Amino acid sequence: MSNTPKAIRGTQDIFGPDAEAFAFVVETFERVRKLYRFRRAEMPVFEKTEVFARSIGETTDVVSKEMYSFEDRGGDSLTLRPEFTAGIARAYLTNGWQQHAPLKLATHGPLFRYERPQKGRYRQFHQLDAEIIGAGEPQADVELLAMADQLLRELCIADGVTLQINTLGDGDTRAAWRAALIEYFGAVRGELSEDSQDRLDKNPLRILDSKDPRDKAFVADAPQVDEFLSSAAQDFFGAVTSGLDAAGVAWERAPSLVRGLDYYRHTAFEFVTDRLGAQGTVLGGGRYDGLMESLGGPATPAVGWAAGIERLAMLVGEREEASADVFIVVEDDTLLDDSIAALTRLRRQGVSADLFASGSPRKRFDKAVKAGAETIMALAMRDGEKAVRFKGEDAEVSRIEGLLT
Ligand code: ATP
Ligand code: MG
Repeated sequence: MSNTPKAIRGTQDIFGPDAEAFAFVVETFERVRKLYRFRRAEMPVFEKTEVFARSIGETTDVVSKEMYSFEDRGGDSLTLRPEFTAGIARAYLTNGWQQHAPLKLATHGPLFRYERPQKGRYRQFHQLDAEIIGAGEPQADVELLAMADQLLRELCIADGVTLQINTLGDGDTRAAWRAALIEYFGAVRGELSEDSQDRLDKNPLRILDSKDPRDKAFVADAPQVDEFLSSAAQDFFGAVTSGLDAAGVAWERAPSLVRGLDYYRHTAFEFVTDRLGAQGTVLGGGRYDGLMESLGGPATPAVGWAAGIERLAMLVGEREEASADVFIVVEDDTLLDDSIAALTRLRRQGVSADLFASGSPRKRFDKAVKAGAETIMALAMRDGEKAVRFKGEDAEVSRIEGLLT
């Protein structure tokens, strides 16, 4: 045992009821994305490092300290994807998916960030992701948020999860707000965390997203975006919130909400809960109208969100593995082939079934009872004849018998 390699820190092996919860999240997402007519896409798990560096922003936490980057044997700098959006944007541009615009896309899979592992925070984690690319109307933001809301409802975790929403305004808004934040935080520079002193020069909006208590004290009274919103930006946000009201999606204004990545404009949002301790954000996203240009593409409005599957699964809680419809117990090994034939027939007709054919034949029936299937079908030899007996509800037993004849 001592010679067995350990798993990498911050990775998880998921099994049993936890794996069922994980699968339930993914299956529900698949169902909901079809209801909303989002198309599936699969992207590579790694990209050229510049895909992330140019789009997410060099000064963000993700790019400056969390990426798994390495040189491959050909000397190219590659990075394991820390998020989906940049790779999707790259795929959109390189494949000419513009022809499908506006394009509603959904995907899910593993992401990699070098973070300090703790409950709800891992180095390999998994996300659900939904994007609407090539749509500049506030209607797209509403559509995307309505889908997120329905997902949480169908996962039965909507109670206790709140949608917090903000606008970051347009380019002019951001510039004016940024100048005001530099002035405000500049006056107390020495009292900020080291990270935020650094952010003050490079990316002052990010101070608002700081989790450091030294910064939080000042964030509360920082200038708010509302003072700087252009009337066009105000109208856009108004259309988003009235659309949410029309769709019956509850929301809360969060005037200092900014997102950790640089590319957001206008709408920014998070679904948060207090049921997961410090890792309370389960789903986050916003509008990223500037992203495609940072990758050398044409100006392309887009909006998207990502949700941590592990965090959603923690809210869902452990889920029991479903029991089988039928267990077939082979009480005489000469009947093994008959049992396999019956098993195959049932499964081909959509009945979940398993075989009990190992260990002492006399103990197999009791083992099957303990393992708990709706119905048990036992095959034995009695006086040189094949004998089949059933245990279970009459109606279900006759249904199974019917499928076998
Ligand atoms: P946080 O503030 O918790 O670090 P973030 O802003 O970095 O989150 P996003 O990049 O917006 O997160 O990712 C969207 C979602 O993915 C998060 O809301 C969270 O549910 C999940 N997530 C992000 N990082 C991790 C991680 N290291 N482990 C598990 N889930 C994560
Ligand atoms: Mg993070």
